[in-house]
Amino acid sequence: MQGVNGLHHITAIAGPAQENLDFYAGILGMRLVKRSINQDDPGTYHLFYADAEGHPGTDLTFFPWAHMAPPRMGHGLAVEVSLEVPAGSLAWWGARLEKYGAKIDEVTSRFGDTVLPLVDPHGMRLALVESGASAPRVFAPWDGSPIPVERQVRGLYGAQIWEREAAPTKEFLTSALGFQRIGAENGWTRYGFHGAPGIVDIRETPDVRRGAWGVGSVHHLAWIVTDEQHQLVVRAQVEASGGRATPVIDRFWFKSVYFKEPGGVLFEIATEGPGFAVDEDPAHLGDTLVLPPWYEAARAEIERVLPPLKMPVAAHETR
Ligand code: ZN
Repeated sequence: MQGVNGLHHITAIAGPAQENLDFYAGILGMRLVKRSINQDDPGTYHLFYADAEGHPGTDLTFFPWAHMAPPRMGHGLAVEVSLEVPAGSLAWWGARLEKYGAKIDEVTSRFGDTVLPLVDPHGMRLALVESGASAPRVFAPWDGSPIPVERQVRGLYGAQIWEREAAPTKEFLTSALGFQRIGAENGWTRYGFHGAPGIVDIRETPDVRRGAWGVGSVHHLAWIVTDEQHQLVVRAQVEASGGRATPVIDRFWFKSVYFKEPGGVLFEIATEGPGFAVDEDPAHLGDTLVLPPWYEAARAEIERVLPPLKMPVAAHETR
Protein backbone atom coordinates (compact mmCIF):
# COMPACT_ATOMS: atom_id res chain seq x y z
CA MET A 1 0.00 0.00 0.00
CA GLN A 2 1.31 3.42 -0.97
CA GLY A 3 -0.33 6.31 0.87
CA VAL A 4 -0.89 9.90 -0.24
CA ASN A 5 1.56 12.61 0.87
CA GLY A 6 -0.83 14.93 2.75
CA LEU A 7 -3.15 17.71 1.64
CA HIS A 8 -2.80 19.21 -1.84
CA HIS A 9 -5.69 21.70 -1.93
CA ILE A 10 -9.24 22.19 -0.70
CA THR A 11 -11.95 23.58 -2.97
CA ALA A 12 -15.13 25.26 -1.75
CA ILE A 13 -18.18 27.05 -3.12
CA ALA A 14 -18.35 30.82 -2.63
CA GLY A 15 -20.85 33.60 -3.24
CA PRO A 16 -19.89 36.65 -5.33
CA ALA A 17 -16.28 36.42 -6.54
CA GLN A 18 -15.27 39.95 -5.52
CA GLU A 19 -16.39 39.38 -1.90
CA ASN A 20 -14.46 36.11 -1.86
CA LEU A 21 -11.33 37.87 -3.15
CA ASP A 22 -11.71 40.72 -0.66
CA PHE A 23 -11.82 38.27 2.25
CA TYR A 24 -9.17 35.70 1.34
CA ALA A 25 -6.64 38.08 -0.25
CA GLY A 26 -7.59 41.32 1.53
CA ILE A 27 -8.34 40.14 5.08
CA LEU A 28 -6.59 36.75 5.40
CA GLY A 29 -3.77 38.02 3.17
CA MET A 30 -3.35 34.87 1.09
CA ARG A 31 -1.98 35.34 -2.41
CA LEU A 32 -4.32 34.93 -5.37
CA VAL A 33 -1.98 32.62 -7.29
CA LYS A 34 -4.34 31.72 -10.12
CA ARG A 35 -7.35 33.44 -11.61
CA SER A 36 -8.90 30.85 -13.86
CA ILE A 37 -12.21 29.19 -14.69
CA ASN A 38 -14.05 26.11 -13.55
CA GLN A 39 -12.98 23.72 -16.29
CA ASP A 40 -16.36 21.95 -16.20
CA ASP A 41 -18.33 25.23 -16.08
CA PRO A 42 -16.21 27.86 -17.88
CA GLY A 43 -18.65 30.72 -17.12
CA THR A 44 -17.54 30.49 -13.47
CA TYR A 45 -14.23 31.60 -12.02
CA HIS A 46 -11.90 29.25 -10.23
CA LEU A 47 -9.88 31.34 -7.75
CA PHE A 48 -6.82 29.86 -6.03
CA TYR A 49 -5.36 31.34 -2.80
CA ALA A 50 -2.05 30.06 -1.48
CA ASP A 51 1.43 31.03 -0.33
CA ALA A 52 3.62 33.20 -2.59
CA GLU A 53 4.52 30.31 -4.88
CA GLY A 54 1.33 28.28 -4.76
CA HIS A 55 2.91 25.26 -3.13
CA PRO A 56 0.71 22.17 -2.83
CA GLY A 57 -0.59 22.07 0.73
CA THR A 58 -1.15 25.82 0.92
CA ASP A 59 -3.90 26.13 -1.61
CA LEU A 60 -7.55 26.96 -0.86
CA THR A 61 -9.64 27.38 -4.01
CA PHE A 62 -13.18 28.54 -4.76
CA PHE A 63 -15.90 28.25 -7.35
CA PRO A 64 -17.97 31.42 -6.91
CA TRP A 65 -21.43 30.06 -7.69
CA ALA A 66 -23.37 33.03 -6.30
CA HIS A 67 -26.72 31.74 -7.63
CA MET A 68 -26.61 28.59 -5.49
CA ALA A 69 -28.65 28.22 -2.30
CA PRO A 70 -26.90 27.77 1.05
CA PRO A 71 -25.75 24.20 1.74
CA ARG A 72 -27.75 21.65 3.64
CA MET A 73 -25.34 20.77 6.40
CA GLY A 74 -25.37 17.06 6.94
CA HIS A 75 -23.45 13.86 6.65
CA GLY A 76 -21.24 13.12 3.66
CA LEU A 77 -19.97 16.69 3.70
CA ALA A 78 -16.84 18.48 4.88
CA VAL A 79 -18.15 21.08 7.34
CA GLU A 80 -15.04 23.13 8.21
CA VAL A 81 -11.64 23.94 6.72
CA SER A 82 -8.68 24.78 8.93
CA LEU A 83 -5.66 26.91 8.08
CA GLU A 84 -2.38 26.95 9.95
CA VAL A 85 -1.02 30.21 11.38
CA PRO A 86 2.21 30.74 13.34
CA ALA A 87 2.33 29.85 17.03
CA GLY A 88 1.29 32.75 19.24
CA SER A 89 -0.56 34.66 16.51
CA LEU A 90 -4.22 33.90 17.30
CA ALA A 91 -4.86 36.91 19.54
CA TRP A 92 -3.51 39.13 16.76
CA TRP A 93 -5.69 37.35 14.19
CA GLY A 94 -8.76 37.60 16.40
CA ALA A 95 -8.30 41.37 16.68
CA ARG A 96 -7.79 41.77 12.94
CA LEU A 97 -10.82 39.66 12.04
CA GLU A 98 -13.03 41.57 14.45
CA LYS A 99 -11.78 44.86 13.08
CA TYR A 100 -12.96 43.85 9.59
CA GLY A 101 -16.29 42.48 10.77
CA ALA A 102 -15.64 38.75 10.46
CA LYS A 103 -17.72 36.46 12.64
CA ILE A 104 -15.34 34.81 15.08
CA ASP A 105 -15.90 32.32 17.88
CA GLU A 106 -14.11 31.71 21.18
CA VAL A 107 -10.56 30.40 20.97
CA THR A 108 -10.66 26.72 21.83
CA SER A 109 -8.43 23.67 22.13
CA ARG A 110 -8.61 20.63 19.86
CA PHE A 111 -6.21 17.70 20.13
CA GLY A 112 -3.77 20.00 21.90
CA ASP A 113 -3.95 22.71 19.19
CA THR A 114 -5.09 26.26 19.90
CA VAL A 115 -7.86 27.06 17.43
CA LEU A 116 -9.86 30.15 16.44
CA PRO A 117 -13.10 29.18 14.67
CA LEU A 118 -14.68 31.74 12.33
CA VAL A 119 -17.14 32.06 9.48
CA ASP A 120 -16.25 33.56 6.10
CA PRO A 121 -18.53 36.14 4.38
CA HIS A 122 -20.45 33.39 2.58
CA GLY A 123 -21.06 31.19 5.60
CA MET A 124 -18.16 28.79 5.26
CA ARG A 125 -16.79 27.59 8.58
CA LEU A 126 -13.05 28.11 8.92
CA ALA A 127 -10.60 27.62 11.75
CA LEU A 128 -7.19 29.16 12.25
CA VAL A 129 -4.90 26.70 14.01
CA GLU A 130 -1.65 27.71 15.67
CA SER A 131 1.31 25.65 14.56
CA GLY A 132 2.28 23.45 17.44
CA ALA A 133 3.68 20.00 16.95
CA SER A 134 2.46 19.98 13.37
CA ALA A 135 4.48 18.50 10.55
CA PRO A 136 7.11 20.64 8.80
CA ARG A 137 5.72 22.27 5.68
CA VAL A 138 6.85 24.10 2.58
CA PHE A 139 5.88 27.77 2.78
CA ALA A 140 6.99 30.79 0.77
CA PRO A 141 6.10 34.12 2.42
CA TRP A 142 4.44 36.70 0.18
CA ASP A 143 5.79 40.22 0.47
CA GLY A 144 2.70 41.63 -1.29
CA SER A 145 0.43 40.43 1.52
CA PRO A 146 -1.22 42.90 3.91
CA ILE A 147 -0.16 40.48 6.67
CA PRO A 148 3.38 40.68 8.07
CA VAL A 149 5.40 37.57 7.24
CA GLU A 150 5.55 36.40 10.86
CA ARG A 151 1.71 36.25 11.00
CA GLN A 152 0.90 34.90 7.52
CA VAL A 153 -1.27 31.85 6.94
CA ARG A 154 1.16 28.93 6.52
CA GLY A 155 -1.15 26.70 4.54
CA LEU A 156 -3.94 24.18 4.92
CA TYR A 157 -4.22 22.33 8.20
CA GLY A 158 -7.16 20.02 7.55
CA ALA A 159 -10.92 19.60 7.53
CA GLN A 160 -13.79 18.28 9.61
CA ILE A 161 -16.24 15.86 8.02
CA TRP A 162 -19.57 14.46 9.14
CA GLU A 163 -20.43 10.86 8.37
CA ARG A 164 -23.61 8.84 8.88
CA GLU A 165 -21.39 5.85 9.65
CA ALA A 166 -17.77 6.53 10.49
CA ALA A 167 -16.33 3.01 10.31
CA PRO A 168 -16.28 2.55 6.51
CA THR A 169 -14.63 5.96 6.04
CA LYS A 170 -12.01 5.23 8.68
CA GLU A 171 -11.22 1.90 7.05
CA PHE A 172 -10.98 3.56 3.63
CA LEU A 173 -8.68 6.36 4.84
CA THR A 174 -6.20 3.91 6.31
CA SER A 175 -6.36 1.08 3.77
CA ALA A 176 -6.71 2.99 0.48
CA LEU A 177 -5.00 6.32 1.23
CA GLY A 178 -2.48 5.56 3.98
CA PHE A 179 -3.85 7.78 6.76
CA GLN A 180 -3.02 7.01 10.37
CA ARG A 181 -5.34 7.34 13.32
CA ILE A 182 -4.08 10.20 15.49
CA GLY A 183 -6.59 10.15 18.36
CA ALA A 184 -10.15 10.78 19.54
CA GLU A 185 -11.66 13.67 21.51
CA ASN A 186 -15.14 15.13 22.13
CA GLY A 187 -16.83 12.92 19.55
CA TRP A 188 -14.25 13.55 16.84
CA THR A 189 -11.69 11.04 15.59
CA ARG A 190 -8.58 12.48 13.97
CA TYR A 191 -6.74 10.93 11.05
CA GLY A 192 -3.60 12.30 9.46
CA PHE A 193 0.00 11.61 8.55
CA HIS A 194 3.21 11.46 10.46
CA GLY A 195 5.54 13.87 8.70
CA ALA A 196 3.08 15.66 6.37
CA PRO A 197 0.39 18.28 6.99
CA GLY A 198 -3.22 17.31 6.44
CA ILE A 199 -5.74 16.05 8.99
CA VAL A 200 -9.32 14.85 8.78
CA ASP A 201 -11.51 14.99 11.88
CA ILE A 202 -14.51 12.68 11.60
CA ARG A 203 -17.74 12.94 13.54
CA GLU A 204 -20.46 10.32 13.26
CA THR A 205 -23.80 12.11 12.80
CA PRO A 206 -26.40 9.37 12.26
CA ASP A 207 -29.31 11.66 13.12
CA VAL A 208 -28.74 14.42 10.58
CA ARG A 209 -29.79 14.43 6.94
CA ARG A 210 -27.55 13.80 3.98
CA GLY A 211 -25.63 17.03 3.36
CA ALA A 212 -25.76 18.91 0.07
CA TRP A 213 -23.47 21.49 -1.52
CA GLY A 214 -24.31 25.18 -1.53
CA VAL A 215 -22.70 28.60 -1.15
CA GLY A 216 -20.36 28.31 1.81
CA SER A 217 -19.75 24.56 1.64
CA VAL A 218 -16.63 22.61 0.91
CA HIS A 219 -16.68 21.01 -2.53
CA HIS A 220 -13.79 18.57 -2.25
CA LEU A 221 -10.57 17.68 -0.44
CA ALA A 222 -7.52 16.94 -2.62
CA TRP A 223 -4.59 14.81 -1.48
CA ILE A 224 -1.05 14.90 -2.89
CA VAL A 225 0.53 12.20 -4.97
CA THR A 226 4.12 12.62 -6.13
CA ASP A 227 3.63 11.94 -9.82
CA GLU A 228 1.40 10.14 -12.30
CA GLN A 229 2.80 6.73 -11.42
CA HIS A 230 2.01 7.25 -7.72
CA GLN A 231 -1.43 8.53 -8.74
CA LEU A 232 -2.23 5.32 -10.62
CA VAL A 233 -1.11 3.22 -7.65
CA VAL A 234 -3.42 5.12 -5.26
CA ARG A 235 -6.24 5.09 -7.83
CA ALA A 236 -5.97 1.28 -7.98
CA GLN A 237 -6.11 1.09 -4.15
CA VAL A 238 -9.26 3.27 -4.18
CA GLU A 239 -10.92 0.94 -6.68
CA ALA A 240 -9.79 -2.15 -4.77
CA SER A 241 -11.50 -0.68 -1.67
CA GLY A 242 -14.77 -0.32 -3.56
CA GLY A 243 -14.37 3.32 -4.60
CA ARG A 244 -15.27 4.45 -8.10
CA ALA A 245 -12.53 6.72 -9.42
CA THR A 246 -12.59 8.89 -12.53
CA PRO A 247 -9.89 8.50 -15.17
CA VAL A 248 -6.90 10.82 -14.82
CA ILE A 249 -8.01 14.35 -15.78
CA ASP A 250 -5.46 16.93 -16.91
CA ARG A 251 -6.02 20.11 -14.87
CA PHE A 252 -2.94 21.63 -16.57
CA TRP A 253 -1.29 22.73 -13.27
CA PHE A 254 -1.64 19.18 -11.97
CA LYS A 255 -3.33 15.91 -12.92
CA SER A 256 -6.41 14.83 -10.98
CA VAL A 257 -8.49 11.77 -10.15
CA TYR A 258 -11.80 12.14 -8.27
CA PHE A 259 -13.80 9.70 -6.18
CA LYS A 260 -16.17 9.70 -3.24
CA GLU A 261 -15.07 8.17 0.02
CA PRO A 262 -17.58 5.66 1.42
CA GLY A 263 -19.58 8.32 3.28
CA GLY A 264 -19.96 10.51 0.20
CA VAL A 265 -17.38 13.29 0.67
CA LEU A 266 -15.75 14.10 -2.69
CA PHE A 267 -12.01 13.49 -2.67
CA GLU A 268 -9.35 14.11 -5.30
CA ILE A 269 -5.78 12.91 -5.68
CA ALA A 270 -3.64 15.51 -7.43
CA THR A 271 -0.04 15.38 -8.61
CA GLU A 272 2.51 17.71 -7.06
CA GLY A 273 3.39 19.34 -10.36
CA PRO A 274 3.87 20.93 -12.73
CA GLY A 275 2.42 23.78 -10.62
CA PHE A 276 1.10 27.29 -11.13
CA ALA A 277 4.26 28.83 -12.64
CA VAL A 278 3.96 26.60 -15.71
CA ASP A 279 1.93 29.24 -17.59
CA GLU A 280 2.62 32.51 -15.74
CA ASP A 281 5.59 34.53 -14.62
CA PRO A 282 5.95 33.70 -10.87
CA ALA A 283 6.04 37.45 -10.14
CA HIS A 284 2.60 37.95 -11.69
CA LEU A 285 0.65 34.89 -10.58
CA GLY A 286 -3.06 35.66 -10.45
CA ASP A 287 -2.85 39.10 -12.06
CA THR A 288 -4.79 38.16 -15.18
CA LEU A 289 -7.26 35.52 -16.30
CA VAL A 290 -5.42 32.33 -17.23
CA LEU A 291 -7.13 29.67 -19.29
CA PRO A 292 -5.97 26.15 -19.97
CA PRO A 293 -4.77 26.08 -23.62
CA TRP A 294 -7.84 24.17 -24.80
CA TYR A 295 -10.09 27.09 -23.71
CA GLU A 296 -8.03 29.89 -25.33
CA ALA A 297 -10.15 29.84 -28.51
CA ALA A 298 -13.20 30.79 -26.39
CA ARG A 299 -11.42 33.50 -24.36
CA ALA A 300 -13.52 36.44 -25.62
CA GLU A 301 -16.83 34.75 -24.75
CA ILE A 302 -15.55 33.57 -21.37
CA GLU A 303 -14.30 37.04 -20.44
CA ARG A 304 -17.66 38.53 -21.42
CA VAL A 305 -19.61 36.41 -18.92
CA LEU A 306 -17.22 36.58 -15.96
CA PRO A 307 -17.81 39.47 -13.53
CA PRO A 308 -14.93 41.99 -13.38
CA LEU A 309 -12.58 41.55 -10.41
CA LYS A 310 -10.35 44.11 -8.80
CA MET A 311 -7.63 43.35 -6.29
CA PRO A 312 -8.66 44.44 -2.78
CA VAL A 313 -7.15 47.59 -1.44
CA ALA A 314 -5.02 45.74 1.03
CA ALA A 315 -5.53 46.59 4.67
CA HIS A 316 -1.88 46.51 5.66
CA GLU A 317 -0.75 45.82 9.16
CA THR A 318 2.75 46.67 10.18
CA ARG A 319 3.25 44.17 12.96
ZN1 ZN B 1 -9.52 20.02 -6.84
